[in-house]
Amino acid sequence: MSRAQLATIYRNLEEYYARRDAEDGMVTSLELVWHGGEPLMQPPQYFWDTFADQDEIFGERPRRNAVQTNLMLLDEERMRLLVDGFDKVGVSLDVIGGLRVNIAGRDSQSKVIDNLRRLRAARQVGCITVLTARNVSAVEEIFRFFEQLDVGFRVLPLFDTDEKGQTSGLDITQQEELAALAQFADLWLGSDQMERPPAPLDEYAAVAVRHLVGNSGPVYRDRREWLPLILVNTDGECYTYGENYGETDWSIGNLMTTSLSEMLAGQTFERCASAAERRVALNCLTCPFFKACGGTFIAETEQRERDHDTQEAMTCMARPMIEHLTGRLRTVMPDLVRDRRARTLAAVTTDRQPA
Ligand code: SF4
Repeated sequence: MSRAQLATIYRNLEEYYARRDAEDGMVTSLELVWHGGEPLMQPPQYFWDTFADQDEIFGERPRRNAVQTNLMLLDEERMRLLVDGFDKVGVSLDVIGGLRVNIAGRDSQSKVIDNLRRLRAARQVGCITVLTARNVSAVEEIFRFFEQLDVGFRVLPLFDTDEKGQTSGLDITQQEELAALAQFADLWLGSDQMERPPAPLDEYAAVAVRHLVGNSGPVYRDRREWLPLILVNTDGECYTYGENYGETDWSIGNLMTTSLSEMLAGQTFERCASAAERRVALNCLTCPFFKACGGTFIAETEQRERDHDTQEAMTCMARPMIEHLTGRLRTVMPDLVRDRRARTLAAVTTDRQPA
């Protein structure tokens, strides 16, 4: 995306949120996540320029920029950008598996780990580990690696990218994924050092805690009233979270050419909102955790990450893990409400505040 295209998108967003805020007296904060491909292949000046445009266009509006990087490139300028420019930094690191190679086909991991240690000395970072056939049996090693570095991380099962040959032989079954997540959950419960479990277990654990203490969770938010997240492709086409990203008949519109208000009033957006509601109706109405959960997991899980049972009904991958955590928390944290970790998990954030 060029600087001018990004500025067009910012103006479009600002016009929409300024109007919404004026209507209800709230202040919407924005988080812009630079993700996909490798954002740091861009010269650092690209980001400094667009941050300057954000200052001009968004003015006082609270905002944060986050970036997800493979951290292969960490020269002085990029270090400065990551420390002083971005508000949040995520690093993709599988720890075991040798999947990330440089252009000559050599494993790049030791270089990335060196870069991570340097960056960690200068600021907080989080990591993402992709679970594949090569590392799914090394859960404890992965956990101990991040525990020792004191870095929080997210576990992401490998999904089919639709690119021929890219993932063949590396995918894991649903059972392997669940077993690995359960092991991560148990390692966290046994750890004095790791404050939060690896995501997405942190969100599942929050639901389990609310369920155990009888609290309600967030009510499932109708996307027609408020859309918390928009995925923007490099051509400006936008998708809701959970629908088919990159398939143009699921695009709700183009932020470079169409106002966000028009996009949210469009037929495709209505189709996306209905599809999310249908997923929640199919999965959540009979789920014992619905009150504590709200249904967001299944509403916002991409189709390729959703699993189907033999009747082709959708099944929620969060539910068995919440069940597992509920059972384990009952045993290891009988005094749940006063437990430090339970309090951390119950913390709720929101992207809108009264003006
Ligand atoms: S089915 Fe999944 S998303 Fe729905 S309420 Fe249960 S745990 Fe939450």
